[in-house]
Amino acid sequence: MSFVHALTCKECGAEYGIEPRTVCDNDFGPVEVAYDYDAMQGTVTRESIEAGPASLWRYKDLLPIEGEPRTGFNSGLTPLVKADRLAAELGVKELYIKDDSANHPTFSYKDRVVSIAITKAIEFGFDTVGCASTGNLAHSVAAHAAASGLRTFVMIPHDLEEGKMVGMSVFGPRVVRIKGNYDDVNRLCSQIADKYNWAIVNVNLRPFYTEGAKTHGFEIAEQMGWRLPRHTVVPVAGGTILPKVWKAYQEFIQLGLVEDNKPAMYAAQAEGCSPVVKAIEEGVDLFHPQKPNTIAKSIAIGNPADGYYVIKVIRDSGGWGASAEDSEIIEAIQLLARTEGIFTEPAGGTTLACAIKLIQQGRIPRDEPICVCITGNGLKTLEVMQGRFTETPVINAKMGEFDTLVKQIEEQTTESTPQTV
Ligand SMILES: *Cc1c(COP(=O)(O)O)cnc(C)c1O
Ligand SMILES: [Zn+2]
Repeated sequence: MSFVHALTCKECGAEYGIEPRTVCDNDFGPVEVAYDYDAMQGTVTRESIEAGPASLWRYKDLLPIEGEPRTGFNSGLTPLVKADRLAAELGVKELYIKDDSANHPTFSYKDRVVSIAITKAIEFGFDTVGCASTGNLAHSVAAHAAASGLRTFVMIPHDLEEGKMVGMSVFGPRVVRIKGNYDDVNRLCSQIADKYNWAIVNVNLRPFYTEGAKTHGFEIAEQMGWRLPRHTVVPVAGGTILPKVWKAYQEFIQLGLVEDNKPAMYAAQAEGCSPVVKAIEEGVDLFHPQKPNTIAKSIAIGNPADGYYVIKVIRDSGGWGASAEDSEIIEAIQLLARTEGIFTEPAGGTTLACAIKLIQQGRIPRDEPICVCITGNGLKTLEVMQGRFTETPVINAKMGEFDTLVKQIEEQTTESTPQTV
């Protein structure tokens, strides 16, 4: 039993059946999954969700699949960390880290969207799946498709980090490196989906794929004890996750599962690829596409497919945006690691760095609950941190040498002033 009603155009409201489709025939507006919320009332409850599996599939009633899940049985339900040490350092009262760096099986938020897309690809009867990716999506598609026995093609920009290449190749997909940036890859993938009739998860399965991002928001609310953060800071690449976390909050409000505290959404982008944040700062509805130049490669999308809707949600929710320089991104990665023991990739560093700016600017008040969405794992992008640490000492296996070393370290730590942000 499914509560899915139809695919509807976000612009003109035209309705379509449940089929592989990206845009409306009338106006090329994106189509989105619509549900029958009335039918959910009284059936989709806190209790029904809590009784579900320990994965993102506990929110199955709010996801666009018809039958049973086909993959992602261990995806989602990542930790929500109450970040008290980081909160103290930033001078805020109540801070949470939603930690998708621990997502199964490929350590990024993409395991959410892919769980739904691959299940949908199987429901539609596709035998080949693919994606246009900046890395993390390729990992996830390759892993979930391998475990489902599907043929896989991943299309990526030619200059991805070495670790990202290994992390997808190991699952055995066909990897196609394309000369150009993500936007060039994405354009080619639209043509591939049409010509070959493959399931390109973020192209012709996009309306289903994007719904998976809601689970990040559902989990935040449930894990906060059926409450919403007042302020949620989310990274923006193609613009999927931010509007979907917002949609998740609104769905829970509509179903009466949480109180409406007017949750505000904030966009985080790297300074070297910040079309959405620029538009917010300039007060315009439309963004200018950019040529990305940043270490935060997994969010380096200069022409975000859903950028327009990110801007709209931010405006409607009373939020804002910020962008971070590469050096600030690195500092934030280290700050999160040092205070909370979480190692995120540059996308996560961007989000935290932007959250700090928004707090310092007074856009996010210090005394209200804040959630920072960490979407990827630092072990996948070791390159960006390499060579940034002071050389570690080498000693002989002698107690005396160790004693001397500890004495030196203790003297250094008493001399140095505590680090502040
Ligand atoms: C894909 C991705 C995002 C966000 O992408 P959207 O297209 O805006 O949903 C954020 N962080 C990481 C690590 C990602 O891989
Ligand atoms: Zn339309």
